[in-house]
Amino acid sequence: MPASLLEWSVPAAILLCAIGLCAARFVGFNTLRWGGALGSLGTGYAIMLVQASELSPYKQAVEDAFILGGVILACRALQSRRGRQPPCYIDVAVLLASTAMVIVSVVLFSSAKLETFFVQACCALVIWRATLPFARQVETTSDKVLTAAFLFIALVLTGQCVLYLAAPTPLLAMGEWRTSVWGTLIQYTGLLGSIALTFAVFIATSYDAIEKYRRQAHTDALTGLLNRQGLDTLLASVSRRPFSDNAGPTGVIMADIDNFKRINDVFGHAFGDMVLARFGALLRPKADAHICAARLGGEEFLLLLHGENLESATAIAEEIRANFVAQRWAPHAPNSRFTASMGVTLVQAGEPFANALKRADDLLYTAKRRGRNCTVSDEAPGGAVNGLSRFSNKAGGEKCCARA
Ligand code: GH3
Ligand code: MG
Ligand code: MG
Repeated sequence: MPASLLEWSVPAAILLCAIGLCAARFVGFNTLRWGGALGSLGTGYAIMLVQASELSPYKQAVEDAFILGGVILACRALQSRRGRQPPCYIDVAVLLASTAMVIVSVVLFSSAKLETFFVQACCALVIWRATLPFARQVETTSDKVLTAAFLFIALVLTGQCVLYLAAPTPLLAMGEWRTSVWGTLIQYTGLLGSIALTFAVFIATSYDAIEKYRRQAHTDALTGLLNRQGLDTLLASVSRRPFSDNAGPTGVIMADIDNFKRINDVFGHAFGDMVLARFGALLRPKADAHICAARLGGEEFLLLLHGENLESATAIAEEIRANFVAQRWAPHAPNSRFTASMGVTLVQAGEPFANALKRADDLLYTAKRRGRNCTVSDEAPGGAVNGLSRFSNKAGGEKCCARA
């Protein structure tokens, strides 16, 4: 019996989803792979509706290969979000095994039920294999949305396989299978899964785009560090949590390149930019889950060090200062040495960040007043240097103490 218009609406809807995903590429969405996956799936569902003149395992094998191929492509698109692509030989082996089982089901057993079961089981297997490791490392909202869609599809397919095994074999000839309740179930499962996947991909891709632009808005283009807006957002988020509960004290280093205006005036603005980028590069390796590095504007930088005491924060500031002094600036300024001044303090328990930043700024200007190229740190509460400002002078790493 030729397929009705209603039946054709299933592959048509899947192929429309595929076209939508492919077309979304032209407005900047990275959805081509997903479109390809649904294109393969929709083609398989369309071939399913083509009336074969006689019972042929080839038509069955081709339609099932397109369906399983679509599922494999979708799973590979999911896995590629982790930046690595697993080797394709397992996918090829599953595709070949499924094709062999389909041919055996049709040729030896003349069983559409068995054929459908094998393909559905292979699809479910491929999806579980891709989704479970992915679900263990979910990081973003996009990952969560895609994981939910894949788990939903995997559960529906697995449920159908169980149903096939549990239900009595219907007495249907091959040609009658498609229009039976089983055939209808398969078609609408495919449609439901495709629509769920399309929505999930669009939602995930939109979240990705929002996250990308948010990151750009919070990043200083010259140094790759947080900019002022990024820092404000970070501070607003940490001040909502008891920040020091598990991280311990927080060290604050305020850094400023010395006589930077003169560097610009003598060597040009482009060279000045290179000096800023180089200084940023000295801070960037320090930035991790416990250290936040930001360029506050101009030639002023900030490091927040969670879990560092005053001693270790001062040592880190000194290390950065000494590394900057040691930089060579050939070919533009081979004989020049540039320096920076540092102010170091701790965020006291319950103290607003703004207060600690102001204190670090004051200490930085104390360093400027003391002749630049030095680190001045705050009083250590209850510590050995209480009542003193610790002052590291110009002679590289050599340190001395001076009263504030
Ligand atoms: P001090 O030792 O007291 O800090 O003196 P300074 O010259 O470093 O400080 P000042 O505030 O007088 O000059 C900062 C200069 O930084 C002025 C400004 O033109 C320059 N500047 C700000 N942003 C940028 C930038 O993105 N690139 C470059 N090349 N220069 C910048
Ligand atoms: Mg300066
Ligand atoms: Mg400055």
